[in-house]
Amino acid sequence: MKNLYSDADAKAAIAHYTAKYAAKGCNEDLAIRTYTTRLLGGVGQLVLHGGGNTSVKTRMKDQFGDDVDVLCVKGSGWDMGQIEPPGLPAVRLDPLRRLATLDKLTDEDMVNFQRVNMLDSSGPNPSVETIFHAFLTPKFIDHTHANAVLSVSDHANGMDILREVYGDKAPVVEYVMPGFALAKMAGEAAAKAKGAWGLVLHKHGIFSWGDTAKEAYDRMIALVTMAEDRIAKAGRRAFPGISLPAKLASAADVAPILRGAIAAGDKRFVMELRNTPDVMNFVNGAELSRYSQAGVITPDHVIRTKNRPMIVPAPKADDLAGFADAVKQARAQYDADYTAYFERHNARVGGIKKILDTAPRVVLVPGLGAFCAGITAKDSAIAGDLVEAASATIADAEGIGPFESVTEGDLFDVEYWSLEQAKLGKSAEKRLQRHVALVTGGGSGIGAASVAAFAAEGCEVVVLDRDGEAAKAVAKNFGGLGLACDVTKESDVRAAFDAAALRFGGVDIVVSNAGAAWGGKIGEVDDKLMRESFELNFFAHQTVAKNAVRVMKAQGLGGCLLFNVSKQAVNPGPDFGPYGLPKAATMFLLRQYAVDYGSIGIRANGINADRIRTGLLTDAMIATRSKARGLTEKDYMGGNLLGREVTAQDVAQGFVALALARATTGAVLTVDGGNIAAALR
Ligand code: ZN
Repeated sequence: MKNLYSDADAKAAIAHYTAKYAAKGCNEDLAIRTYTTRLLGGVGQLVLHGGGNTSVKTRMKDQFGDDVDVLCVKGSGWDMGQIEPPGLPAVRLDPLRRLATLDKLTDEDMVNFQRVNMLDSSGPNPSVETIFHAFLTPKFIDHTHANAVLSVSDHANGMDILREVYGDKAPVVEYVMPGFALAKMAGEAAAKAKGAWGLVLHKHGIFSWGDTAKEAYDRMIALVTMAEDRIAKAGRRAFPGISLPAKLASAADVAPILRGAIAAGDKRFVMELRNTPDVMNFVNGAELSRYSQAGVITPDHVIRTKNRPMIVPAPKADDLAGFADAVKQARAQYDADYTAYFERHNARVGGIKKILDTAPRVVLVPGLGAFCAGITAKDSAIAGDLVEAASATIADAEGIGPFESVTEGDLFDVEYWSLEQAKLGKSAEKRLQRHVALVTGGGSGIGAASVAAFAAEGCEVVVLDRDGEAAKAVAKNFGGLGLACDVTKESDVRAAFDAAALRFGGVDIVVSNAGAAWGGKIGEVDDKLMRESFELNFFAHQTVAKNAVRVMKAQGLGGCLLFNVSKQAVNPGPDFGPYGLPKAATMFLLRQYAVDYGSIGIRANGINADRIRTGLLTDAMIATRSKARGLTEKDYMGGNLLGREVTAQDVAQGFVALALARATTGAVLTVDGGNIAAALR
């Protein structure tokens, strides 16, 4: 493990943080603590998504200007790689240490006690391992869940191997769930181990300490390197592979089937594929059902990945239906197994827990990789990172001997520990959270406004535009996927839906918005122009809708098709036939989709908008047209019953309303400020 400490960087960090957070009382100790915390947090093999923490014991001023001893410890919700001094809230040290005199302490009392002893009540909750840090005497303490240490530790005889590797440098503490009891045990073990650099927590992680931030950090790197050397001696295990079907189905075809199958009731998940070489070595192994079902590499992963991943067979390209059946069976079995696991251990703890959803967060597919699920794309990415870490860590562990996790009961205790669940930050879900919305023509105008509106409702967004740069720019604002796509090209549309399936698992809402206006007197218009308009304003909607239905059918979760029609579809304007005619056909198209797919829960609705300031109706056009009619721009744009200009945002809100209208299909909503001539009848 590379040591990244630099004296120059450390000095610069001290100057930077003490200046930036001077008003918050950031001293040199806290500044350098922040620097090495970021060094640790920036390396995935050491720390992943909340799996680690650091602290420093220092003095700070209280309200009276008196110096008090405090423990600045990593706060919940902060990523160590990007932490700033406010992410290490100060807690009074003496009261924390006095807790060691108690025989027991409930979690709720511990959390409350930590909070009431903070110097700044607006700070984040101190780490669940806070009292652990308090009970250890050294000034700087670093804690990671380093993969290498876990590979050495996660064995039936892991404590022996750890003792061999570390000797007196780092005593080994047997596995106990984090909390008061472990903190007391570790404090006692450390007190006995004079001259040790740190402490290893069996099947959990490693602590290092020092008088300076550099010393604690150097020791962490050295201890992790010792584990790496032990692994290198044994060599990483290349799992003997299984034989795969000659022609595998594509991951893009498989993703929607999995996404549909793992949905828990009406709660669906966002899914993404991971297929790095480590993951492929893992999923293609002949013994997958042994080592993948043995539990997580360190207990706190359980809240992100559940106790076990689900395994399905390798999918054959010519038998997706057979694959879908096998997935259904695996899902039913997962549900039964998870429920039984919950009931076994809930009975042990007195029946006080409420079962969480029974959906797997990781599905292993030989030949394709690991499909990782979460409530949001951020959550599925975290599950993905943990799967990549587990694949490598378990392969390294198996080089030494069979991988073994903590017991099922220990996993349950962490999964159902209120302090772990609190890390997930349960807030009220947004109305369209867990949904994926794809918008064509999303790079500008009504499309871009729709992307923003669906993202605001909690959707993951896929932005398609002929201008790929514009699509990417819009998507970037919402953590979405932006792609170049000419919707008149079947292959472009197929590729875009495939990309959506790999990134988010599939699609739930499609806004078929891309369009362009062509004019011309109908009896004289050029055929080529007329056909060009039909390609974009009608056939492209059909291509997009067909692809959407293909994915939605595979998911089996219903779906929502939304079409940007136009008031021209019912109220033709002079010389606007080349635009109005394909739009009229598109209005019929949405009704046909409503009729043909209502029985499987796919709804199709549209919006007739008019006179929206976009790329189709530019500021220059507005100036010319209003002048030609002898009106001000304002009167021209507000020439409707409500007397107000209709915006792209108004149309976007209309699409959201239709997406939420669960009992509405085959409907066209007018968003035109009121125009009786364009009213549907
Ligand atoms: Zn830990």
